[in-house]
Amino acid sequence: MKRPPPSPTEAERAELTGRAGLCASCRHLQLLRSPNSLFVRCARSDHDTAFPRYPPLPVFACPGHAPTGEVSG
Ligand code: SF4
Repeated sequence: MKRPPPSPTEAERAELTGRAGLCASCRHLQLLRSPNSLFVRCARSDHDTAFPRYPPLPVFACPGHAPTGEVSG
């Protein structure tokens, strides 16, 4: 079974601020790296098809946004 990518670090989230919008501060954020690119993946899409796997960035409004550290959702 494939393992999920590790949780983004605070430095990675800071790097995304401004480019990714709400995803940068969301606990559902997953980051996938290739040698030349960084992809923002929404883990919420694994269980809810209403959320795109790779959301168009930046995300300015999202009903699934859950700030890091928040336990619900
Ligand atoms: S739930 Fe919304 S804000 Fe959170 S990672 Fe997915 S698309 Fe981004």
